[in-house]
Amino acid sequence: AASIVRKMEDIGIGTKSTRANTVQTLYDRGYIIGINNIQVTEFGTTIVETLRDYVPELTSEDLTKKFEEDVEKIQAGELKKDNVVKEAEETLTKILAGFKEKEAKIGERLKKSYYRARQEQAIIGTCPNCGSNLIIRVSRASRKQFIGCSGYPKCTTGFPLPQSAIIVKTGKFCQHDNLPIIQVVRKGKRKFDMCISPTCKSKEEWNKKNEEKKKKAESKLDKKFEETFKENLKKPISESALPKRRQPKLQKP
Ligand SMILES: [Zn+2]
Ligand SMILES: [Zn+2]
Repeated sequence: AASIVRKMEDIGIGTKSTRANTVQTLYDRGYIIGINNIQVTEFGTTIVETLRDYVPELTSEDLTKKFEEDVEKIQAGELKKDNVVKEAEETLTKILAGFKEKEAKIGERLKKSYYRARQEQAIIGTCPNCGSNLIIRVSRASRKQFIGCSGYPKCTTGFPLPQSAIIVKTGKFCQHDNLPIIQVVRKGKRKFDMCISPTCKSKEEWNKKNEEKKKKAESKLDKKFEETFKENLKKPISESALPKRRQPKLQKP
C-alpha cells in the first residue's frame, strides 16, 4: 500500500492527508486485494475500463491534478478563489451531465461485473475431499461464518473462520497442505494472510506461542495467588475480617 501512496505522490494526485484514505477505500470497496503483492480485482479493472469508455474525463488524473494545483495557487495568492470555484463547477457540471446520460449503460455493465466478482470472491478454493468449491458461508443457527463445501450435505468438509473479520480471497495456496490462503481483515488491526487449516504446519509455531502465552499467564496467576496467600498469613487477623458473631436472640418472656 505504501507503494501506491508513493505512486500517487509521484503523479501528484491527492494530498498527504487524503492519500492513505483513498487507498483504504480501494480495499474496502474490493477494487484491490493483497498486502505485499497488491492486485487490482476484476471488479476494480471493470470500473476503470467502464468509466474510461463512457466518461474519460473522470478517470484521467489530469483533472484531479489541475484542481489541486489551482488550490495551491489560491493559497499562494496567484489565483482568485471565486474564479477557480466557478471554473471547477462548470467543468464538473459538464462531466456529470455526460455521466447522467450514460448512467443506465454504465450501471448495467458494472452490475454484471459486480455479481460475477461477488460469486468469484465467495469461492475460496477447491475442497480437498471431493473437489467441489469451498465457499464462505454463514451458519444459519449460530450466525458464524465458516468455509464449507458446496457439495454439502454429501460432503461435510469445513474450516472455521475468525469472526467479525472480513475474509478476502488471495488466490494463493499453502505450501504445506495446498489449501487456500485467505486474508483476514479486521477493523483497526493489521491485515494478515493465513492458511484455512487450523492444524496447518505453518501455524505450529503460532499455536505453540499461543499455548506458551496461556501457560505463562496461568502460572503467573498461580504464583500471585500463592504470594498473596503467604502474605496474608503473616498479617495479624483484623477484627473486621472475622465473621461477625451472631447476636443471640432474646427470648421474650
Ligand atoms: Zn467437499
Ligand atoms: Zn496450510
